[in-house]
Amino acid sequence: MNLLLKDYLDRQITPIAAQLDTESQPLFEAFYGLGDRALLTPKLPSDSGGLGLDSLGFWQFQSLVAQHSGALAFLQTQHQSAASLLQASQNQALTQTYLPAMASGAKRVGVGFSQLRKQPAPVKAQPVSGGYQLSGTVPWVSGVGLFTEFVGAAELADGSAIFGLVPLANQKAISVSQPMALMGMAATGTVSVSLSDYFLADEQVVGTRPAGWIQLSDRTNPLSPLGLVLGCAQAGLSVAAQSLSKRQIDHPLPAQLQARIEQTWVELPKLHDLPTEDYQQKVNFRGEAISLMNTCAQTAVLAASGVANTVGHPAQRVYKEALVFSVSGQSKGSAIASLDALSIHK
Ligand SMILES: Cc1cc2nc3c(=O)[nH]c(=O)nc-3n(C[C@H](O)[C@H](O)[C@H](O)COP(=O)(O)OP(=O)(O)OC[C@H]3O[C@@H](n4cnc5c(N)ncnc54)[C@H](O)[C@@H]3O)c2cc1C
Repeated sequence: MNLLLKDYLDRQITPIAAQLDTESQPLFEAFYGLGDRALLTPKLPSDSGGLGLDSLGFWQFQSLVAQHSGALAFLQTQHQSAASLLQASQNQALTQTYLPAMASGAKRVGVGFSQLRKQPAPVKAQPVSGGYQLSGTVPWVSGVGLFTEFVGAAELADGSAIFGLVPLANQKAISVSQPMALMGMAATGTVSVSLSDYFLADEQVVGTRPAGWIQLSDRTNPLSPLGLVLGCAQAGLSVAAQSLSKRQIDHPLPAQLQARIEQTWVELPKLHDLPTEDYQQKVNFRGEAISLMNTCAQTAVLAASGVANTVGHPAQRVYKEALVFSVSGQSKGSAIASLDALSIHK
């Protein structure tokens, strides 16, 4: 897998990485390129078209993609997240139709459930005959123009959440915003989606989760963005090395940061195996990794000098990718841990 993936990334992604950050069409084509190699849902078992990667294997996969293009890694992650939700679904008709087609990109699905972290709930659901009626605004859904649907979530009166497939296009009861003018990864087509009494038929329901599900998930899996974070850190160091060599500056910092990235990879499986009660240790580790990523991105800028400010320079792209990965899936606990990692009175 790694050779096939690495060859694709080296040959076809690295030369156009700057374009993939700002232009949607080439980014979507790059996503299709992963699909042509059946690399869009690597966490699924092989009988569903995946590679059966466990958490560590998927972090390595994400890291490799993010070393070449953060935007491509981000979109693949959203699609994988939708596939994982579908894989866990009791709705056999949906899983059989969607999962094999998602590996190749014949079906392309995003997600919109981070709003479950917010109170009062931005999207509410009410049971009606044959399904649910959804109302409210999903604040973040990436992939408009690529994903035709997303797995959205809405809160029921008892605080539980209903997850279902919702079209990612304007139609009766669905209003999709213009893509947000984002500083980093603008090409990902990130929108908000307003639902006005949108009817989610039972056939489109992916599943339900109990009240407090996302808070528990945040406590259980605080390490989930580490593949993207470490990939971005590595990308920063690659850019820094090129610039320093061009400027004939010999400085020990890149080697020190490389050693810290490698140490983080060594410790990651051990942290992953800790029980949920060791949440604080895990979330602190996440905070330290985010801080390391930002230091690597800053190193890339400082090594490049003024030219880092020009549009299209890789140092600038990595710096902006770090901005997105710093807050992806952020909970209150992970925000505090990230701030702690930066604190000057540690
Ligand atoms: C470029 C980009 C693309 C994204 N794409 C997607 C996507 O495709 N799908 C998706 O689901 N998400 C997406 N996100 C959302 C992303 O993961 C969120 O940044 C993350 O979930 C944090 O949410 P938030 O920034 O909206 O902050 P909030 O949810 O507002 O705040 C974060 C934390 O603060 C606390 N908090 C917030 N409001 C309250 C309150 N009223 N009372 C008490 N505590 C509160 C909560 O603990 C919450 O966990 C995207 C984000 C970015 C930047």
